[in-house]
Amino acid sequence: MSLKGTLYIVSAPSGAGKTSLVRQLLARDSLVRVSVSHTTRTMRPGETDGHDYNFVTMETFNALIEEGRFLEFAEVFGNKYGTSQCWVQEQLDQGIDVILEIDWQGAQQVRRLMPEAVSIFILPPSREALRERLTGRGQDDETVIDGRMAEAVSEMSHFGEYDYLIINDRFEQALGELHAVLVARRLRMDVQQHRQLELIGGLLSEQ
Ligand code: GDP
Ligand code: ADP
Ligand code: 5GP
Repeated sequence: MSLKGTLYIVSAPSGAGKTSLVRQLLARDSLVRVSVSHTTRTMRPGETDGHDYNFVTMETFNALIEEGRFLEFAEVFGNKYGTSQCWVQEQLDQGIDVILEIDWQGAQQVRRLMPEAVSIFILPPSREALRERLTGRGQDDETVIDGRMAEAVSEMSHFGEYDYLIINDRFEQALGELHAVLVARRLRMDVQQHRQLELIGGLLSEQ
């Protein structure tokens, strides 16, 4: 019997650091992959099509909805974002863990479809720190940042719907905590009983 991978949902207000944390997590953990979403937003400087997002037109996005290709989709900051159903399923079927970096609306949809998914919410240490990070990222003007700060409060109000809460104050500590959630999950008895079947069989056999 093959062991299915675990699906993780990571959400945070824009600027809290989820993209940086997930990127570093992938560098230290080879058993997990991140889903590349489809989006209708324009590409930021430094982003690559197919790597950061699959950048598509509204027409293509709507066609993908019609074809039932999305596990979930939602509108965030006036743009559409969606997760590819078949890619995620293929990874999980192969026993590979998958991270979805999605907003709270998408998280609610995924939880309904896959109640076994593990969800993690990331908060900044303060509102001031969030604003500084949005400003420091240097990709949005003051009006856009004001808008994202206003949205942040409503996004953050959903933290209680998640299984785990991480405060991204010191980056290295938050990264360690995020990794700990994945590691602990893999050590659960039901998971280990499958993974360590041979070892346990040998240890408990009558010679
Ligand atoms: P950033 O979060 O500030 O880097 O800005 P982005 O434009 O990359 O993402 C904006 C919001 O869209 C974030 O809250 C993401 O979590 C959310 N998002 C990204 N991809 C998806 C997706 O596939 N589905 C859903 N529902 N939300 C997504
Ligand atoms: P998100 O994907 O949640 O919008 P990013 O990962 O793009 O957030 O992070 C926003 C900015 O904050 C980036 O410039 C990043 O370097 C910075 N940042 C992330 N985590 C920390 C931290 N713990 N301390 C200081 N700056 C951070
Ligand atoms: P990048 O997109 O270059 O991977 O990360 C963007 C920003 O995230 C970096 O400029 C940095 O501020 C933060 N960051 C990414 N990785 C680390 C890390 O390992 N440690 C710390 N302290 N910050 C990091």
